[in-house]
Amino acid sequence: MKKAKKIWFNGKFLDWKKAKIHVLAHSLHYGSAVFEGIRAYSTEKGPAVFRLPEHINRLFYSASVLDMRIPFSKEEVKAAILRMIKINRLKECYIRPIAFFGEKMGLNPKGALVNLVIIAFPWRGLFGEKKIKVKTSKFIRIHPRSTTADAKISGHYINSILATLEVKKAGFDEAILLDFEGKVAEGPGENIFMVKDRKISTPLPGAILPGITRRTIIEVAKSLGYSVSEKKIEPRELKKADELFFAGTGVEICPIAKINKILINQGKVGEITLKIKKSYQEIVRGKEKRYFKWLTFVENDKGNRV
Ligand code: PMP
Repeated sequence: MKKAKKIWFNGKFLDWKKAKIHVLAHSLHYGSAVFEGIRAYSTEKGPAVFRLPEHINRLFYSASVLDMRIPFSKEEVKAAILRMIKINRLKECYIRPIAFFGEKMGLNPKGALVNLVIIAFPWRGLFGEKKIKVKTSKFIRIHPRSTTADAKISGHYINSILATLEVKKAGFDEAILLDFEGKVAEGPGENIFMVKDRKISTPLPGAILPGITRRTIIEVAKSLGYSVSEKKIEPRELKKADELFFAGTGVEICPIAKINKILINQGKVGEITLKIKKSYQEIVRGKEKRYFKWLTFVENDKGNRV
């Protein structure tokens, strides 16, 4: 991991090494933090953050699930992110805002201070141009009645971590988690799409984290003329798919070449996956005017000091 110079910590720009927290932080003990994974891409007009308002809305939504009051407004958080990119002189980067409860013992977080940290660093994504091998995990995705599954809460990621460790040990790149009904849910940190007979489908919201990339792909694929449906998908349907791909901020659009022992599209990247992947790369880098609406350009930063 490449470090950057500064980390934004409750409104202050600290040196990377000095951004530390207390060992009694409630969120360290109980997983009660909320966070986002956002990316900025290089465009002709300088760096631009992809779908920044949507990510910030989700951050505040996740916080509300934990009754956590982030001590900054959405506008302040957005401005701080743009400043961070500027101050660290980043061209393309990953941005990780995280809100967490400070020192407090006991499960009830009430009374603990809420902290907000923003980390931004250069990053090229999770799998690069790789076609990946996935395995169905023995762990099911967190039950939507055990938690609020569509919030991005740190504690939820134990589920993802266990699935990842399991499949990596078996020699695979990434896991697929099923939901409590045995239907396909998602990857540990990304949503899944299937192509069959030129029709695209993806699991319904409910047990999954309905990603911002997922929403993006649904809109882009439809405008490219494809039919896209959100539906319950059986695990056996994946094995018979013409194409499979993951979608998420970290993996962008990542083709799946093999699921368990089965090759998908003879292990080659499918035509529709390729088309969507190409389109996504162009959109995030500001090469598609009609999708400028999804970009927040750093150069437009008004210089608000947060
Ligand atoms: N599912 C899970 C469990 C995730 O952690 C992520 C990454 N945030 C996604 C899906 C994809 O979401 P997004 O497209 O918003 O990055």
